[in-house]
Amino acid sequence: TVVTRFAPSPTGFLHIGGARTALFNWLYARHHGGRFLLRIEDTDRLRSTPEAVDAIFEGLRWLGLDWDEEPVFQFTRAPRHAEVVHALLAEGKAYRCYASQEELAAMREAQKAAGQPMRYDGRWRDRDPAEAPEGVKPVIRMKAPRDGETVIEDQVQGRVTVANDQLDDMILLRSDGTPTYMLSVVVDDHDMGVTHVVRGDDHLTNAFRQSQLYRLIGWEPPTFAHIPLIHGPDGAKLSKRHGALGTDAYRDMGYLPEAMRNYLLRLGWGHGDDEIISDAQAVAWFDIAAVGKAAARFDMVKLTSLNGHYLRQADDARLVDLIAGRLGQTVNEEGQRRLMAGMAGLKERAKTLIDLADSAAFYVRPRPLALDDKALKQVTGDGAATVARLRDRLAAVEPWSRDSLEADARAAAEETGLKLGKVAQPLRAALTGTTVSPPIFEVMEILGRAETLARLDDCLR
Ligand code: GLU
Repeated sequence: TVVTRFAPSPTGFLHIGGARTALFNWLYARHHGGRFLLRIEDTDRLRSTPEAVDAIFEGLRWLGLDWDEEPVFQFTRAPRHAEVVHALLAEGKAYRCYASQEELAAMREAQKAAGQPMRYDGRWRDRDPAEAPEGVKPVIRMKAPRDGETVIEDQVQGRVTVANDQLDDMILLRSDGTPTYMLSVVVDDHDMGVTHVVRGDDHLTNAFRQSQLYRLIGWEPPTFAHIPLIHGPDGAKLSKRHGALGTDAYRDMGYLPEAMRNYLLRLGWGHGDDEIISDAQAVAWFDIAAVGKAAARFDMVKLTSLNGHYLRQADDARLVDLIAGRLGQTVNEEGQRRLMAGMAGLKERAKTLIDLADSAAFYVRPRPLALDDKALKQVTGDGAATVARLRDRLAAVEPWSRDSLEADARAAAEETGLKLGKVAQPLRAALTGTTVSPPIFEVMEILGRAETLARLDDCLR
C-alpha cells in the first residue's frame, strides 16, 4: 500500500508551500487508499517551538488534511537513529572521523584555492582508528560509494543522476552523538514505511545522499517526487507581499479552506482545463505524473475568485457562523434570523469572509445606523424628500413581502415621474448605511416592517 508523509520543521507557521506539499501527499495517499503520515522534524531544538507545532496541526486541520496515526516527533527517535549508525559502523560501512575543525578548514581552503568544490576528502575512511588523536570526539561518516553514479527516477523530475565522486562521505552522527538531519529523514521514512516521498524540489540534491544511505544500510529507497516550488507572480521566489504567508493568515483574510485546497491543487497540477475541482474529484483524479516541472506562480486574484465561487456554494448557516466573529459585535437571536434570511443575497457578491461580514453588518447594527459618505448624500435634499414620501406608504403595504414592497415602490416612482433606482437608492442608503447591498426590497422584507420604518425615521430626524 501507498504510504506518504508530510514532514515539516516546526520553526514557523504552516506556509502555503508546505500546505501544498501536504495536500499532494494527502491526495496521493487517499487516491491509492493508502496512509498519510505526519512527522514533525523537531531536531533543531533551538528553532523548533511548541507554538509552531500547534500551528502545523491547526493549519492541516483547517485545510481538512487529516493524517493517519499519531504524529511522529523526530527528536524522540534520536536513539534509534544512532542505533542504525552503530550497526553500519560494526559492518564497516561507516567510520569515525577525527579530523579537527582546523584541519577541515585547511582542507576547504586548499580546495577553494584549486577551484575545486568543497568536499570532505575521506582522510579517515581507511585509516586505523588506533591513530586517533587523544581527546578528539569523532563524528561518524558514511562510506559513500566512490565510483559509478547515483540515479533517481523522480516521478516529477524524471531520471536524475549524479556521479558518486561528486559527493562526499556525509556525517551521520555529530561528535556529540546527535543524528544529522539526513540520517534522521532516511531512518524515519524507512521505519514509518513511507513508500513515496513527495516534497519541494529544494530537497532534490538531498535525495542523492539519502538514496546512497538507503542502499548502504540495505534498504530500498522510496519513490521520490520533487515538486517545483511556488513562485511569486513575477517568477521570483515567493515573497511575503505576494502570498508567502501561513495558512492562518489566509483564514484570517477570509478564505475558505475548500477554496484554498482547490487553489493549491491547481498550483502545479492540472486536470485538463478544469478550474473547479471538488474534493471527491481531486481524490479520484490526483496523480503525481501530472505535476508539472515548471515552478507554479502564485496568483492571489485567482485564489480570490475561486473563494468567491466557494462562498456562493457554501451552506448559509456555516457562513453565518464564520462571519459571526467578524461583525464587530455580538449577534442576538433576531440578528441571527436576519443573517440567515439575508445570506443567500449577501454571498452572491462576496469574495472573502471579510467582504461578506462587511456587507452583512447592516443587518445587525444597532440603530441609529451610521451612514457612509455616499449614503449620506443619498438621504439629503431630494433623497430626504423621497424617503419622507415613501415612509407612510410603506407603513401601509400589505403583505410585508419583497414583491408587494417593490410593486408599491414602482407605483410611487411612476406617480412622481422618477425611475425606480431614484427611489431605491435613498431607501438603500437609509436602511443599509451604504450604496451597495442585496436587492433593497429583499432587505426590507428581512428587516421587517418595524425596523424598516424605524431606520427611515432615523434618517428623517
Ligand atoms: N523538514 C523538511 C522541511 O521542512 C522536509 C524534509 C522532507 O520532506 O524530506 O523542509
